[in-house]
Amino acid sequence: MSTIAENLSSVRATLPAGATLVAVSKYHTAQAIAEAYAAGQRHFGESRVQELRDKQAALPADIAWHFIGHLQPNKVKYIAPYVALVHAVDTPKLLAEIHRQAEKCGRRIPCLLQLHVAAEETKYGFSLAECEAFLQSGEWRNYPCAHIVGIMCMATNTDDEVRIESDFSRAHAFFLDARQRYFADDADFGVCSWGMSDDYQLALKHGSTHVRIGSRIFAGS
Ligand SMILES: *Cc1c(COP(=O)(O)O)cnc(C)c1O
Repeated sequence: MSTIAENLSSVRATLPAGATLVAVSKYHTAQAIAEAYAAGQRHFGESRVQELRDKQAALPADIAWHFIGHLQPNKVKYIAPYVALVHAVDTPKLLAEIHRQAEKCGRRIPCLLQLHVAAEETKYGFSLAECEAFLQSGEWRNYPCAHIVGIMCMATNTDDEVRIESDFSRAHAFFLDARQRYFADDADFGVCSWGMSDDYQLALKHGSTHVRIGSRIFAGS
């Protein structure tokens, strides 16, 4: 077995049934992705538009490509025909542009609203209050082809597990409340995207349905 296949199977062994493993392949080669694909992996996460375009063109068509990074509205058009899930919608403007490009392609693109729960200033995302105000405004209902199916966040980059769990727990509480108040009639609203290589076990304790794991799978490749 290749190292990547071994890493994948050891990560999978730690995931509960029903959790989706997004293998974060950013900065890794198409060859590395092909090895993971051969080991059965189908969900991959990328954070740069040009890199995703090159890989999507070179790799099997049944890969579900997740865009997990900061997405500039003017680049949505390049990935709109095939992207499986946009994880980090962080402005109303981006959601509007995803709607526009999805409509042109005759599809609905699943999207997550990115919450800023981490202590660092630099990370993108809506604050809890901003996200609540945006949902309350109803503006998003004008963008049905950008289909909001859940919430994404990144925890504080720290060794302090109490802080990390508190970040995930606040995101999960927000998700549950939003589901009840705004998405009760939409069974697709069910995605909680949190947890990376170093914190996904904590994320799973707090409702994560999609873990985004890169280095633990691809390290050394
Ligand atoms: C890089 C990245 C990951 C994966 O991080 P690892 O620590 O390599 O598992 C997950 N989510 C986002 C948004 C990323 O940019």
